[in-house]
Amino acid sequence: MKIVEPWVKVEDFDGKKIMQKIERACRTCYRSEDKITDESYKNLLKNCISRGHESVLEHEKITVRIYNDIGSYKDLTRHRFASFSVESTRYCSYDKDKYGNEISFINPVYIEDKETYEIWKNTMQQIENGYIAMKKLGASTDMCRNILPHSVAAEYTMTANIREWKHIFTLRANNHVHPAIRQVMIPLLKYFKEQMPEIFEEIPYDEEFNPKYYAKLSVE
Ligand SMILES: Cc1cc2nc3c(=O)[nH]c(=O)nc-3n(C[C@H](O)[C@H](O)[C@H](O)COP(=O)(O)OP(=O)(O)OC[C@H]3O[C@@H](n4cnc5c(N)ncnc54)[C@H](O)[C@@H]3O)c2cc1C
Repeated sequence: MKIVEPWVKVEDFDGKKIMQKIERACRTCYRSEDKITDESYKNLLKNCISRGHESVLEHEKITVRIYNDIGSYKDLTRHRFASFSVESTRYCSYDKDKYGNEISFINPVYIEDKETYEIWKNTMQQIENGYIAMKKLGASTDMCRNILPHSVAAEYTMTANIREWKHIFTLRANNHVHPAIRQVMIPLLKYFKEQMPEIFEEIPYDEEFNPKYYAKLSVE
């Protein structure tokens, strides 16, 4: 068995360009395209957001790739206006060479008590032993997946428009949310805040959450 860390990869986007494209769409409402300058998107977007005129944010989308536990996508896929492609536990057979003949589990770093962590680790080992033993007896991947727990690592691609990202961050970066999701959503939100402050700067997040737990974020 392999214990791995979560990560998030964001498609390379230009926040200013995205906001300018939204501005262009929004100005159709007022036929004020002639007012566009290099910086005019800033006030326009702030005004739209403060008045709840947010449908304009739907004109642009961003895709990210996330490597995290199954539990995290179980929660995130509830967001109906986001699109997902998720690693399939029906088709990916973890006894194969491609997966190193083992199951990868996301490290639950937030289980800080050593004894509790050891119980988690031993349980994951037993699950892997069972998975491999079932495979050796000829069980299908469909059958084996029934014993997989929330901790199993999976990659998923997630696309949402800017309005939906704003909504998702509002719900998924605070301290009511499972730590595995905060690990990914907080660094992602912080990146969006840097790239598009006019849209994301007001969204709060759990500032008490230890940054050493943040998933590694890279831009691709
Ligand atoms: C802290 C937390 C705990 C949760 N606990 C549970 C739980 O115990 N059990 C559980 O089942 N779920 C739970 N959820 C999931 C939650 O109920 C939502 O299903 C999920 O967060 C998706 O949110 P949403 O519907 O706002 O978002 P989206 O699907 O992203 O929709 C965006 C927005 O569109 C509008 N919208 C979408 N569909 C409709 C519709 N049919 N009718 C009217 N308006 C619509 C709403 O304004 C909605 O906020 C939890 C979520 C959080 C954040």
